[in-house]
Amino acid sequence: MTLTIFNVMGREKQTFTPNQEGHVGIYVCGPTIYDHAHLGHAKTYVSFDVVVRWLRQHYTVLYVQNLTDVGHLLDTGEDRILRKSRQMQAKPMQIADFYARSYLDDMRNLLVQPPDIQPRAAGHVPEQIQMTQELIDKGFAYESNGSVYFSVEADEDYGKLSNRRVEAQEENTRNTAGMQEKRHSADFALWKKAEPEHIMRWNSPWGEGFPGWHIECSAMARKYLGANFDIHGGGIDNIFPHNECEVAQSESANEVPFANYWMLVGSLTVEGVKMSKSLGNFFTIKDALDQYRPEVIRTFILSAHYSNPVDYSPDSLEAANNGWGRIYNAVRETRRKMNHAPEGSDGHGFGTRIDEARAQFVEAMNDDFNAPQAVAMLQNFTREVNALLNGEASVGLETLSAINTFYNQYGGEVLGIIPSVDESVGNNAEREGGLIELLIEMRANARAQKNYAESDRIRNRLSALGVQLDDRPEGTVWRVE
Ligand SMILES: [Zn+2]
Repeated sequence: MTLTIFNVMGREKQTFTPNQEGHVGIYVCGPTIYDHAHLGHAKTYVSFDVVVRWLRQHYTVLYVQNLTDVGHLLDTGEDRILRKSRQMQAKPMQIADFYARSYLDDMRNLLVQPPDIQPRAAGHVPEQIQMTQELIDKGFAYESNGSVYFSVEADEDYGKLSNRRVEAQEENTRNTAGMQEKRHSADFALWKKAEPEHIMRWNSPWGEGFPGWHIECSAMARKYLGANFDIHGGGIDNIFPHNECEVAQSESANEVPFANYWMLVGSLTVEGVKMSKSLGNFFTIKDALDQYRPEVIRTFILSAHYSNPVDYSPDSLEAANNGWGRIYNAVRETRRKMNHAPEGSDGHGFGTRIDEARAQFVEAMNDDFNAPQAVAMLQNFTREVNALLNGEASVGLETLSAINTFYNQYGGEVLGIIPSVDESVGNNAEREGGLIELLIEMRANARAQKNYAESDRIRNRLSALGVQLDDRPEGTVWRVE
């Protein structure tokens, strides 16, 4: 297969060739876990979920996504997690753990498949110290008053990812923390000396301190994927300074190219302005999930190409809800008809149409993961499925099964917008009730055949699960203890 990727490094569409045939290593910058995640985070991580799901159709993938629990400083020089821990009067790691669980819950509820490795920065301080030391030894970094800075002037490639030149950055640098310790205003911290009141602190060759934000991704990517790996992803807003600094650190320390392909996701905007905590124009993932099914939120996010922004408004989510509903209704109707369909082939020749649809879907996804085109293709396909299902002639089981398989594979496994289990079967509570009723019937049959050992076994097993049976003149009733 030929997959093309728009490589932000070099800004051109390129044919994807992995380092090792059949295998892909991908690193995506994860969130800083100091608050509940908002829809902007959903845009980034649902987009990469679909990228990884598509890669997994063809490759063995190792997907690494970090969680930042130390070192991500505000412009004031204050650590985000430390500030929150002061506000909440909780320990920093309590804050990090609380919001890590919140984020992982949100991702699960959005049907995002978990990364293979989800390393946390505070658990990888020795690796970050080691890389910082290597950068000092190679002349790319220097110690100053207990902190260590990367020297941008020592790295002639600095700025190649974001296309920023060092002179330009000097003008608009906002971070004044530690300015007098730096040789150049664009130099960035690999290690920061901890002031007496700073709680998160570790021993290092330069005294007690804590790692800078960018070094964690360089150190953890190398640990789990190697010095040179296939794909690095993140949100476009982190291209500078974060991703640029990662490239500088990794390539200076390792002396090999860092990631071969850079994929950056466009922002989620509200009336054209990026959704962010600091601007206050945000909706949490939990708020969105209160209103819409995860498949609808995913359909909304996938309505724009991953590299483009997607604009949030109540109308845009409603449009996604309607578009998704049309597809899902056709899936449900297909599955319903499967229960009553005549066996065998029906002569409609719809199989050819499914083959075409499959080819179109594959072509869209192989063209830089063009999910909006893939969704549009599912919409067109659905119109034809509806025409078939609403037509006069009966549709055979073979055709219905092929349609259902197509939806499951591409709408379900790849895009994550088609549930594999039909909800017309009922929710979990209904299903559980039905299963208990079935066991009660089986127990009654056993008793009718005087097989008391079997009937007692059913009663005891249910009892062990907290389901108590009560035999009454009108029949057996059950209750959960
Ligand atoms: Zn990162």
